[in-house]
Amino acid sequence: MSVQHPAGRGPLAGRPARGPRGSAAEAPDSPAGGGDPVGVRHPRPARTGPRPAATGIAVIGAGAAGLTLVDALTAPGRLPAPPVVLIEATPGPLRPPPRTWCFWQEGAGRYDAAVGAAWQRLRLHDTAGRAVERDIAPLRYKMVRSDDFEALVSRRLAARPGVRRLAADVDAAAGLPGGGAEVRATAADGSPVTVRARWVYDSRPPDPLPAGRTGLLQHFRGWFVRTDRPRFETGTVELMDFRTRRPAHGLSFGYVLPTGPCTALVEYTEFSRRLLDDAAYEEALGHYCREVLRLGGFTVRARETGVIPMTDAPFVRRAGPAVFRIGTAGGATRPSTGYTFATIQRQSLALARAVRAGRSPVPPRPHPARARAMDAVLLRALDSGRIDGPEFFVRLFRRVPPGRLLRFLDGRSTLAEELAIGARVPVLPMLHCAAELPLLPRRTPPGPRIPTRPRHGIPEGPEGPEGSGVPAGPTGPEGPEDCQTPEVPAPQEEL
Ligand SMILES: Cc1cc2nc3c(=O)[nH]c(=O)nc-3n(C[C@H](O)[C@H](O)[C@H](O)COP(=O)(O)OP(=O)(O)OC[C@H]3O[C@@H](n4cnc5c(N)ncnc54)[C@H](O)[C@@H]3O)c2cc1C
Repeated sequence: MSVQHPAGRGPLAGRPARGPRGSAAEAPDSPAGGGDPVGVRHPRPARTGPRPAATGIAVIGAGAAGLTLVDALTAPGRLPAPPVVLIEATPGPLRPPPRTWCFWQEGAGRYDAAVGAAWQRLRLHDTAGRAVERDIAPLRYKMVRSDDFEALVSRRLAARPGVRRLAADVDAAAGLPGGGAEVRATAADGSPVTVRARWVYDSRPPDPLPAGRTGLLQHFRGWFVRTDRPRFETGTVELMDFRTRRPAHGLSFGYVLPTGPCTALVEYTEFSRRLLDDAAYEEALGHYCREVLRLGGFTVRARETGVIPMTDAPFVRRAGPAVFRIGTAGGATRPSTGYTFATIQRQSLALARAVRAGRSPVPPRPHPARARAMDAVLLRALDSGRIDGPEFFVRLFRRVPPGRLLRFLDGRSTLAEELAIGARVPVLPMLHCAAELPLLPRRTPPGPRIPTRPRHGIPEGPEGPEGSGVPAGPTGPEGPEDCQTPEVPAPQEEL
């Protein structure tokens, strides 16, 4: 592998490689057996000649997928780790703001040190306010903040000799005639950077999204709230609360991740075709907090906004002979739910194992074909209004054992389990949608666009967001007595 900047410039110019070099456990070695060490080169512009052989791996993007893959590729293990260059966007609009990822998992996981909270009970409320609650043991619903995840993985990578990190905005990644691929990027100072590698894994968000028959968006606004009285049940996540105001198209629900009796991430989410404007999210979330959850006095300590594509579009995993897409860009988002994080973990581990063993470098299919086909039908049914979304989800949750349902959502259910789940859904409208799908045109859905300005996770003042209508209450460490009690600590798991 080679990394090139114009002589003496570039983000790594003159700097030593990160981390100690040459440990036997993680000695750089290419999956293809090449021995070209990871190195930074500053070629003299005038000199031409044979370029170094492309070995090693380049990973574009240091989000969930990029970091997980580099972590898996270079983890100490029996099989040799390839040299890896992780190319992360320069500080600025290409770096996504902090976000909160949730997923379910049985037992301990590789990223438990970054898990901020975990729960064993999930609840749904139907539109009439009836609750359905389930214990998901032995699974746990875990929450990871992206900042904590990045810090954890960065600490690990810093100690691995075969990993280089490079800050540059990637402009293009393409295969080379003789094998391998080249990534062209621009460093923060405007200088061009070229990285050559045997394989390139690209997690840059697709823009535009590929064309699908249904293109819904899961879009949401969350508030990290602190109430002035204990209002949250700390052991239970409100997964889908359909007591929200119903949008004209699609569906909406509230989502509550309680992190203490007085603190929670509360979100208003829609599955629909169009995003709302800022004021509309604030209004809908304010209504949910005040009128549905009846939080009383509270302040908003930070915000989170997100858009996740829910589409049956086929995502290309192989963009060229030596260039592959991973993460959301490679179709890791489950179309019917938007959950992505756990799929990224599974896919990265499987891919890293294959690459280190010298097998196929193509990322494995993130979701089984059967699951994608069922999701395509469900998305069509939701989008066309042939099924009532809230009723559908509550019915599934009420009638299907939680372990089976979550296995299905993970794409790990058996055919028998899927048939059993199929028997719990409104059969006729679903059959209607399945029959019309092949006749529908594929269209490029709107957004989500790459954010141009960070808006998420921005701490708010104690008086609450301006103009949001959120009651300004006495909060924070100076809040009333009963909210001074320490938050219920997140259950710790042994690794
Ligand atoms: C607010 C929010 C909450 C979510 N919550 C959940 C959840 O609870 N559970 C779940 O399973 N999924 C969730 N998702 C969906 C999904 O898990 C996340 O979107 C996840 O971040 C996807 O990982 P990724 O690596 O594919 O993309 P990202 O994490 O977005 O990473 C892409 C990376 O590419 C980099 N990049 C972009 N352009 C360039 C460039 N030109 N050059 C170099 N680098 C570049 C970016 O800086 C970024 O680091 C959520 C999504 C959002 C937006």
